[in-house]
Amino acid sequence: MSEKRLALVGAHPDDCDILGAGLALRYRALGWKVLFISMANGDCGHQSMTRAELGARRKAETEAVANLLDIDYVVMDTPDCDVMPTLEQRWNLMRVLRRFAPDLVVTHHTQDYHPDHRYTSQLVGDCSFLLKVPHCCPDVPALRKNTVHAFFYAQRQSVRTDDFSVAIPIDDLWETKLSALCCHESQMFEWLPWVDNKDMDAIPPASDVAGRRAYVDAWRRPRFENVAQQHREMLPAGTQLAEAFYAAPFPTSLNAENARELFPFAF
Ligand SMILES: [Zn+2]
Repeated sequence: MSEKRLALVGAHPDDCDILGAGLALRYRALGWKVLFISMANGDCGHQSMTRAELGARRKAETEAVANLLDIDYVVMDTPDCDVMPTLEQRWNLMRVLRRFAPDLVVTHHTQDYHPDHRYTSQLVGDCSFLLKVPHCCPDVPALRKNTVHAFFYAQRQSVRTDDFSVAIPIDDLWETKLSALCCHESQMFEWLPWVDNKDMDAIPPASDVAGRRAYVDAWRRPRFENVAQQHREMLPAGTQLAEAFYAAPFPTSLNAENARELFPFAF
């Protein structure tokens, strides 16, 4: 089977990891290339650090994830909460996607609670047909192949729809995915518990590595158990944890035909 290239496009420097680290690991296991893109630099996601400090810290967190998963990770300079479907941001994404030449691009659903997620999805959609148009953004050559587009599943309040989908078991990958999530210390142990009004005193200190891991495990596991339950008929019996990916209404959407090429480990 020919090599495939996977680009996950998230709004923030942890979205791809949370929503698609399992898929990335499946691709890497086949020796296929994976790129994570964060459309914003994530510098608003903290209750006390300055934006400059946090931006640098989150960049370092993505570098730790890139090393762990053996992938490439691009973080755009766009300030957090400023992702918008502007021409400048469209061309910036276009250049990264064309240079990488993905066979599959996965991004947020167009309906999502966070404006950065919604506009990231729109930017991917805005690029989708133009990837092949040479006179658009001519400083990087246009692609000559079709790129398939899909949406992440398992965002907050996600409900299964009738759109075509593929689910993959991630039970055997969960520990590595958990390690990737724990790389985002500023988010998992500081910002996200704070903004979700969790009990900050319940978070184990940095010296308690196993305790912190168990904390993230207990918090994050149910979402992927829920994905497995909702897509049970397309998963091997006994699957506890899964990620799922949905057809996106952009040119060359994920469908039953191309899914066999792009998700050979799911069939
Ligand atoms: Zn996000």
